[in-house]
Amino acid sequence: MADRRFPPLRDELVGIEPYGAPQLDVPVALNVNENPYPPSTRVVADVAAAVAEAAMTLNRYPDREFTELRKGLADYLNVSGGEGIGPDQVWAANGSNEVMLQLLQAFGGPGRTALSFAPTYSMYPEYARDAMTTWVAGRRHEDFSFDLDHAAALIAEHRPTVVLLPSPNNPTGTALPHAVIGTLCEAVARHDGIVVIDEAYAEFRREGTPSALELLPRYPNLVVTRTMSKAFALAGARVGYLAASPEICDALRVVRLPYHLSAVTQATATAALRHADELLANVAALRVERDSTVAWLRQQGFEVADSDANFCLFGRFDDRHAVWEGLLERGVLIRETGPDGWLRVSIGTAEEMAAFRAALLEVAR
Ligand SMILES: *Cc1c(COP(=O)(O)O)cnc(C)c1O
Repeated sequence: MADRRFPPLRDELVGIEPYGAPQLDVPVALNVNENPYPPSTRVVADVAAAVAEAAMTLNRYPDREFTELRKGLADYLNVSGGEGIGPDQVWAANGSNEVMLQLLQAFGGPGRTALSFAPTYSMYPEYARDAMTTWVAGRRHEDFSFDLDHAAALIAEHRPTVVLLPSPNNPTGTALPHAVIGTLCEAVARHDGIVVIDEAYAEFRREGTPSALELLPRYPNLVVTRTMSKAFALAGARVGYLAASPEICDALRVVRLPYHLSAVTQATATAALRHADELLANVAALRVERDSTVAWLRQQGFEVADSDANFCLFGRFDDRHAVWEGLLERGVLIRETGPDGWLRVSIGTAEEMAAFRAALLEVAR
């Protein structure tokens, strides 16, 4: 590289592939847990009108504190598992990915440790790396349930300032019981750590599965993140958010970039929240489709992890890549992720799931 005219990458970035679920143009895309239902023309019209109004003041920087959006998100959380959450307990950014990176920028850093338990969301170690935070991954039980004894031992050993856990978990779909979250909050509180419960898929949870939002009044070191990308069918808008104590929200104002949420993003999300009922209307259908996909896969003799999300993890395959490729050849794109031998399929429309089932029978038999 004699004629390179720029410095080498930071050591920890050398040879790293950028995040990359393949974005392929296929008839049936079931690989990134998107909501398959686009917004209705009514919602589109209202979003467009709100964006047009915002466009008239695009010469100015947007509201740095996204006041109206925070109020809309707080109102929504209070009908989605939370109670008495105020706008000062809400923070938002460009996707919950950015929210969680900001958490690590604020509460991680050199000499500090972030902890999760595998299999877990593949982006967490990247936030830790980007925030120069030591990354430690423990493990879950063989059936993907949470191993509290193992977790307690790792917490005592590493004293993480941030514990990051998806619930429902990606890629397994497993939700965490309240007792586990409470125990973790108490364990890390001994050294002033926080517990981040990533509820990207909360709206898809099964009847009887609680939301960690209920625990916020009891644990001041608990952070619950949510996103508009999945149940809300708004992945293209890039809006994620969290609920936590006002002090934690306030701390994030130090690390956010100036005016990080554009006027267009704020207008889009605020308008979409006015149509929450309609945007979330398809969640019920997706949950039914999820449960029947799980049941069908089991009938066919596959192992399937219980799922509270809009995807399911199934296996096991001696050569999962061959199965993934066989499905792709038939126009069905799923995700090669999770422990070796397993594959993850997002829940699409009834037609898309029928195409998935037909293709899988051809490939796996
Ligand atoms: C999809 C997903 C998110 C959401 O990401 P956004 O940046 O909000 O689109 C967060 N956490 C997990 C575990 C996810 O799977």
